Amino acid sequence: MKCPACGHTNMADKIMDETLSYGGQSLTLHGMKGDFCPECGEGVWDEESYRRYTEAQSALVRATKEDVSADIRRIRKSLKLTQTELSEVVGIGKVAFSRYERGETRPPAPLVKLLKLVERHPDLLAEMSPSKFPRNEPHSPKRATR
Ligand SMILES: [Zn+2]
Repeated sequence: MKCPACGHTNMADKIMDETLSYGGQSLTLHGMKGDFCPECGEGVWDEESYRRYTEAQSALVRATKEDVSADIRRIRKSLKLTQTELSEVVGIGKVAFSRYERGETRPPAPLVKLLKLVERHPDLLAEMSPSKFPRNEPHSPKRATR
């Protein structure tokens, strides 16, 4: 078989382990068969291995989504906020937020990081939304209004 990447004609049959990574999780497939190019390293899985690869890939994507959505729900509950309240604090639509929580849409990574930060430092909520979460410490003097 000819290498699809460099055209080298002597691709070698190989059995190897392939590790897939997605969203901080990884999964290793053992005994994957394919033809591999000794020149450039390009590989072509056989039919069975390719099917296993694509199945593992979508399982990994699914698992990661569920994981993140469970994280979001857990964080929100630990903050004792409704979806509407938390979505307002972080400044995203509540429809989008509920999709993230149900795992229908993958939330943007910065949002997940932000929520994890807030989970560890709940007092940040007051910084993010002073009107909703008034701080206990005295406010700085305000200018008098007429
Ligand atoms: Zn090649």
